[in-house]
Amino acid sequence: MRISLETRDFAKYPFLKESQQFMLQNHESVDRFLQSSPGKVAIRYAVERVQRALSSTGQPMEVESIPLPSDNLGIRLEVSSYALSRVLVSCGKERALIDRLTRYEAQRAYAFLEADDEARRDYVASQVGFSLAHASLPVSRYVEVTAGMKEERWRLVNREVQEGRVTIEPLEAEELLKEQIRVTLLSQLPLEVPQSLCSELVPYVTHIQDAFQQKMLEDFGEVDESCFPPCMQAITAALSGGMNITHSGRFALTAFLHNIGMDSTQIIELYCRAPDFDVSKTQYQVEHISGRGGTGTEYTAPSCAAMRTLGLCVRPDASCERVNHPLNYYRSRKKGKKPGPN
Ligand code: SF4
Repeated sequence: MRISLETRDFAKYPFLKESQQFMLQNHESVDRFLQSSPGKVAIRYAVERVQRALSSTGQPMEVESIPLPSDNLGIRLEVSSYALSRVLVSCGKERALIDRLTRYEAQRAYAFLEADDEARRDYVASQVGFSLAHASLPVSRYVEVTAGMKEERWRLVNREVQEGRVTIEPLEAEELLKEQIRVTLLSQLPLEVPQSLCSELVPYVTHIQDAFQQKMLEDFGEVDESCFPPCMQAITAALSGGMNITHSGRFALTAFLHNIGMDSTQIIELYCRAPDFDVSKTQYQVEHISGRGGTGTEYTAPSCAAMRTLGLCVRPDASCERVNHPLNYYRSRKKGKKPGPN
């Protein structure tokens, strides 16, 4: 299917191949572009783009609130800022930051799609391998698209399945399109950025990493052990008492501490209390779980259900009845509220 895109569409949907071709009309190298006046503006816009991603609440965006240039230079800068923001988070190698950016980009594109005509919606959908035309999806495809969607209504057991296909309502199809955009963009990151370019961008990368750290601290506040859920308190107490912790206990605690914003050094210091402490082994495990290891996968602490299965849900208190995840418990206690599910 071919449609005639307008230049403003490139700014709306910068991930389309046409948008990238539009940006690369001058055939400049990234290095040379960054030295030029437009390049300096574009990198500033890229930092602002990441910052917008960090402040995004995840709620649907109002299309009127999204800045959209109308002249060719503005559109080129907008598309360049999209490309450079991906370069910045790739140099930063922080999986959670990459995740925030791709969520933001998917929300942003979806806001434009909602306001756009059907032909454009269908075209953008086709470019990320999705079709809005079908009222159902094959089970395997459905499972693939919804793998990152946590709400109960998306679980296969809660769906109507007929002859190997999952029934999809029209509004749900649009939600799935947004998710497909996110998954597609996420699958492309991190980019393989040459080290020389990352070195050139260090001030900008540091800036967004600091902003990310600050955002995490705002969300979770200073790490406060008194707000830990009983399960995590039990593991830290066992560590302090010189007990050896099982592999799953270490994994749960390390992922939890990383998720609430503790840096690797602080986590390793905590493990110094263990009788079998081995600094290089601990460092490897912490880096691996926090996504800085070879796979780049950043892990999330297990849910309460998983903690129960692992035998790690110990001494749950009354507040535990209101949560389904140790992070929810911690977040709610930090806010001084009674814990409640997210
Ligand atoms: S219910 Fe959840 S938060 Fe509470 S102790 Fe068990 S695993 Fe931890």
